Amino acid sequence: MKRFVFCRVEADDGTVGWGEAYAIPRRERGIAEFVRGLGAMLEALPDASPQSFRDNVTGWYDEGHLSIDLSSAASALEVALWDIQGKRAGKPLCELLGTVVRRSLPLYANMDPLTPNDPIDLLVERCVAIKEQGFDALKFYPMEYEPLDQATEAVRRVREAIGDEARMLLDIWALGDADHALEAAHAFAPFDPFWFEEPIAGERIDEMAEIRRQVTMPIVTGERQMGRQHFRAVLEKQAADILNPDIVGVGGLQDIIEIAGMADAFDVLVAPHCWNSTLVGAAAMVHTCAVMPNALIGEYFPQYEPFCSRLGSVDMEVTKGVAVLGDAPGLGVCMNEDVIASYEI
Ligand SMILES: [Mg+2]
Repeated sequence: MKRFVFCRVEADDGTVGWGEAYAIPRRERGIAEFVRGLGAMLEALPDASPQSFRDNVTGWYDEGHLSIDLSSAASALEVALWDIQGKRAGKPLCELLGTVVRRSLPLYANMDPLTPNDPIDLLVERCVAIKEQGFDALKFYPMEYEPLDQATEAVRRVREAIGDEARMLLDIWALGDADHALEAAHAFAPFDPFWFEEPIAGERIDEMAEIRRQVTMPIVTGERQMGRQHFRAVLEKQAADILNPDIVGVGGLQDIIEIAGMADAFDVLVAPHCWNSTLVGAAAMVHTCAVMPNALIGEYFPQYEPFCSRLGSVDMEVTKGVAVLGDAPGLGVCMNEDVIASYEI
């Protein structure tokens, strides 16, 4: 089971804000330590706005040594500060982030199993079930079924089961070998995938651009990266059709909005990665995409809903694969602090 890292910030006036850090498995304690370190610096700030936090804390704390775990921790605090601002203003967070262009966002279901080693039959069964729940876009990891002929069989079986209309998103999960990624792309293309995600590691920008030139499917990259400079280089080298920085991993909501703005100038879309809870992380994603004209779709894990519903609730309706924001102030999350404390590690 995926573990979540939440962050609670209480302002001097008693307003409480919630954040979440993109937590890579087995690193949760380390990320929580970063949150505490950044939090101590935040307490010393005279003005605890998200902007002041970014200008005066994040940049100092990293000392030029960026890492995804640190930027996830910074994201958690930045999101909590935005939540506080929204609650103080009495407005849904999206209204503070920019010009609201939508209040709903289509979601794709990530089919990652709760227990590993799903055989192809079970994957197909789960894809059909999620489609019946109303999701018309789903993502899975074909390379888990390697060798390539078996991986291709998984892609073929899923396409056959979900029909031609449904969107099938393939996550290649950063192969070490760019030639193998190309081989996989050519094998999967006949089954009309909606996208081809992370064929190789996101920092290999020149090779990613070369793969993009040779592949007809849209190339997605960015979930393991942070910092506006990285994404600018991806755009300048024409290495992606769609960027997917993690909504609470990239460094903050301001960062992803600025990255989306840059992407828009290159006619590149944004589809936030959100391997996070269906509470804070998912709400942050939908509020943020509300002000991004080039937001395409958001990631969602329906299989986390039962557990997350014990941890809290969110003023956001998710039905038939679409999230619709309510009008509660801030993120609109209400967290069950006692229940969360009982799961603390
Ligand atoms: Mg991915």
